[in-house]
Amino acid sequence: MKNLVKRFFVIALVSLTGTLLFIAREQGINLESLLVLLSAITLVLAFILEKKIPFRDAWNNNIGDLKTDLSSAITLILLVEPAIKALLPLLIIAAYQCLNAEYIESSLPFFVQVIAVTLLVEFGKYWSHRLHHLQPSLWWLHALHHSSERLYFINNLRFHPLNYLINSIIGIAPTMLIGFSPDAIIGYLILTQPLVLIQHANIDFNSGWANYIFSTNEAHRWHHSTIPSEANRNYGNALLIWDHVFGTFKAPDVFIEEKRVGLFSSSSCYPASSSYWQQIKSMFISRC
Ligand SMILES: [Zn+2]
Repeated sequence: MKNLVKRFFVIALVSLTGTLLFIAREQGINLESLLVLLSAITLVLAFILEKKIPFRDAWNNNIGDLKTDLSSAITLILLVEPAIKALLPLLIIAAYQCLNAEYIESSLPFFVQVIAVTLLVEFGKYWSHRLHHLQPSLWWLHALHHSSERLYFINNLRFHPLNYLINSIIGIAPTMLIGFSPDAIIGYLILTQPLVLIQHANIDFNSGWANYIFSTNEAHRWHHSTIPSEANRNYGNALLIWDHVFGTFKAPDVFIEEKRVGLFSSSSCYPASSSYWQQIKSMFISRC
């Protein structure tokens, strides 16, 4: 049974989200409620599977970082996400006023819009993520995400609020500007958010070919390596398509026991073991 879960969980999750999106659309079920339900179920499953089939036993132990991770998760869910939801429509209205243009919602079929939104958001998030690695001041924000020295499911919500805000604006705003429907954007989230929520999970999946398409925890593990040539890879949010296009894809080979996750040696003066608030404030101190 364990081997079946390891081999097919990711593929089953993607199939399930796609099927549920189709059914919800056909039956007129509220998509936002479905997104919340799917996300909650995924987090519970991730928590259980980390105990049952961990990739590394040691990564299930709190090494003094749980408070930082929970602080970040609560901040993002209760403050940053609602702020982004309120801010983005205002940004779009302002952009249309500046352009002196009229907003026209796309008349494309729903699932064509979902595919277009998926490609566009993934493109935006890919470049936002890559720029956060290339540009020193952005890296200092993104270092909070990489400062964790273990990978487990809560890491997915360990972000500097500004980093999270920039990712969201670059990823989502263009799709709103073009006029894709809000439901198509939620449809994209239903398809991808459960996958993203297990991207850092300490679960010993063996997803095979799916690792070449989706940003699974096996593929993403390399992105958190302490070796820059390994970590400046697999930037994709839910899909690795743009990593293939722009030459940053790294095949998910076995992440052997000696491999470590965390910051690069060049960022050793980053206050990685400090509290969440101190790490946020570190954007105002001089960088390494
Ligand atoms: Zn990164």
